[in-house]
Amino acid sequence: MLKRQLTFLENIHNITDESMEKKTLNELKKKLEAEKTLLEKDLLKFADKDKKIPYDYDTRFPELDVAARPSAPDENATEIDNYGNLLAVEHALELRLKEVGEALEKIKKNDGGYGKCENCQEEIKIERLKANPAAKICVKCANQNRK
Ligand SMILES: [Zn+2]
Repeated sequence: MLKRQLTFLENIHNITDESMEKKTLNELKKKLEAEKTLLEKDLLKFADKDKKIPYDYDTRFPELDVAARPSAPDENATEIDNYGNLLAVEHALELRLKEVGEALEKIKKNDGGYGKCENCQEEIKIERLKANPAAKICVKCANQNRK
């Protein structure tokens, strides 16, 4: 009986040793969830969620009514310019939302995938995850990619 209990305790010890501290993981999860909410809020200001594709949003095209305002073509040109800017912003927000969402999914899966470098499978340093909880690759691989 005692021996079995000891083995049990040893196993628990091994588990906590290998995986990230639960408290840290919870903090990162909270950070990710907060960022996700903010990103979604920002996106919905000018884009509609595409229900078929996860993390995909479609920027609403400003209503151009040339016929109603034939005397103001410049105004329409400005609207089109704005639309181009919005598309770029939407794209950046969408990419970030995808990263954040995927990181959250990994945490939910709880199979040890979160916090591991997708490139070399090494653990991503906790400082890096604290700075960017959605980081997918370690510093070493990120630097290599930049070259
Ligand atoms: Zn790596």
